[in-house]
Amino acid sequence: MDSIIDVKKIVERKKEKIKSNVQKLNKVGIYPKLAVILANDDEASKIYVGKKRSMCEELGIQEVEYILDETTTTKKVLEIIDRLNNDTSVDGILVQLPLFKHLDEPKILEAISCKKDVDGFHPTNLGKLIINHEEEIIPCTPKGIMWILDSLGVNIEGLNAVVVGRSVIVGKPIAQLLLKKNATVTMCHSKTKDLKSYTSKADILVVATGVPNLITKDMVKKDAIVIDVGINRIEKKIVGDVDTKEVSKKVKYITPVPGGVGITTVAALMDNLVNIASKRKEKR
Ligand code: NAD
Repeated sequence: MDSIIDVKKIVERKKEKIKSNVQKLNKVGIYPKLAVILANDDEASKIYVGKKRSMCEELGIQEVEYILDETTTTKKVLEIIDRLNNDTSVDGILVQLPLFKHLDEPKILEAISCKKDVDGFHPTNLGKLIINHEEEIIPCTPKGIMWILDSLGVNIEGLNAVVVGRSVIVGKPIAQLLLKKNATVTMCHSKTKDLKSYTSKADILVVATGVPNLITKDMVKKDAIVIDVGINRIEKKIVGDVDTKEVSKKVKYITPVPGGVGITTVAALMDNLVNIASKRKEKR
């Protein structure tokens, strides 16, 4: 279908650019390095760490992993983070979530130096996003969404953007990024009354709820741009939060699931890492 955005093409182009930036840094003796801490038994997390590992390999980025078993303690994780914060060869630190239940997640995440916070979840970086600070590190999924919107060549200024979902990792930061592009942003969530009255006015609709097929054809504006962030597993099939089959017949552009926003996230993480590494050059 014509309205389905070819996200794979967008990601391939971004990866080429990141790879060339890595090569430029290598020429001046800088070797971008990511440190990953995995402290849980979750199969999905192991898959995510594997995806990050293989993209690092593909782009020429160095990667070190700390795989911790359930005997690990918050103190031990904090010690590793402290070491990595002070290791000048490490540019980014990523703690794969969720953590073992006995670990103090907020304390661990806040211990990561905000300068090495590749995920962009540190309170300082979330604050920088709000004040448009020049050294902001943008959370990866919202960054990937902006790549998709940029690739469409649409002038966002003055458009009605509706974000459904108010999570710290997607909803809140994407609302800020759209605001920065001068969209008129409305945020909806689980307590919103009459969701359709908002979604049907959206020129840009971003949906990140985890509710399969929440958005149906009657809820969207004709020729809208729909970004479906949802990743929901139903009977071994992955579906988004939007009824793509029907909605794609009415809108101008829509991201597919799978193969949509999800595939931009790891590339956006690599982009954050290389941007952090390039600051080493400025310090010289
Ligand atoms: P979350 O799971 O933390 O919270 C869900 C949000 O949806 C809440 O803000 C809630 O208020 C809202 N919501 C729930 N039911 C609603 C309803 N009926 N109407 C309106 N709003 C409703 O959010 P999250 O972590 O952003 O995850 C949302 C979805 O996006 C999940 O499917 C997740 O797997 C997916 N996700 C995908 C990526 C990616 O890379 N593509 C990254 C992060 C999350």
